Amino acid sequence: MSVLVVGSVAYDGIETPSGKVDRTLGGSATYISLASSYLTDAVRLVATVGKDFAQEDIDLFKRHGINLDGFKVDENERTFFWRGRYHEDLNTRDTLETQLNVIEKFDPVVPDSLKGSRYVCLGNLDPVIQKKVLDQMTTPQLSICDTMNFWIEGMNKELKETISKIDCLIINDSEARELTGENNLIEAADKIREMGPSILIIKKGEHGAMLFSDDGFFTAPALPLTEIKDPTGAGDSFLGGFAGWLSKTDDLSHANLRRAVIYGSVMASFCVEDFGPMRFDQLSPYKISERYDEFRKIAEIPSSS
Ligand code: AMP
Repeated sequence: MSVLVVGSVAYDGIETPSGKVDRTLGGSATYISLASSYLTDAVRLVATVGKDFAQEDIDLFKRHGINLDGFKVDENERTFFWRGRYHEDLNTRDTLETQLNVIEKFDPVVPDSLKGSRYVCLGNLDPVIQKKVLDQMTTPQLSICDTMNFWIEGMNKELKETISKIDCLIINDSEARELTGENNLIEAADKIREMGPSILIIKKGEHGAMLFSDDGFFTAPALPLTEIKDPTGAGDSFLGGFAGWLSKTDDLSHANLRRAVIYGSVMASFCVEDFGPMRFDQLSPYKISERYDEFRKIAEIPSSS
């Protein structure tokens, strides 16, 4: 099956306690599509960049077999740029600079040849644009959406309109609380699922992720990693791994959703091991399945006797 990804393709400047990079490839759609490309063949990237976008970064997408029919270079603009600094605990960060550039006028048109894509990933973007993309799709099997506090606070009504149309929402715990005004995450999950999406994933950073669906609840562990260089894009990589596995298997049973949550966690755990998306240029199916097994091992509960 095919995965269509829409979101930002950017250059990022990142400072973490482990180091600093002034300019590296980034953006929500970059992480989603690279992570997804390890699990499924047909990844399609819909995004716009500026004239400063490097050929080597286009080549990286091509090397991963990512379809670029919906990828545009605007010769009159520059690429979206974001700069952030992480605190010592790596859970919080300050945005130091955002240059919207080409993203300011981003109005994605899904080429006819991609409108039938079955799995649709709406990366973190203006919720009105997310809905516009969804409206262009003909027969999606599953639409998966990410968002952030910025949209919850600034475009709440529009975001709720988009959430009412999607099948699966992936957000973190603080966003779930902010979106619903509920402190208890189980109550927050009920409220979010009443807004529309039948599948909800709440990510809890270094504490794993929770899955809520009509068929039950699942909680995924987080790998006890000692070396986290850069958390940028971990959430997007989770989304990419989750969608990639579902697209590969085309099975929305609860058991398979659980596997997809673990593949999401696997891709997020790789992402944080290096700056930017660079870890995604050195992975292999073997390393991915090895790490999947590590997740299985740490979550095994022995029987009581
Ligand atoms: P995450 O760490 O999952 O929040 O994703 C980080 C990526 O989001 C970075 O690579 C940024 O380029 C991108 N980003 C930051 N702010 C925005 C924004 N307002 N809209 C779209 N993408 C953004």
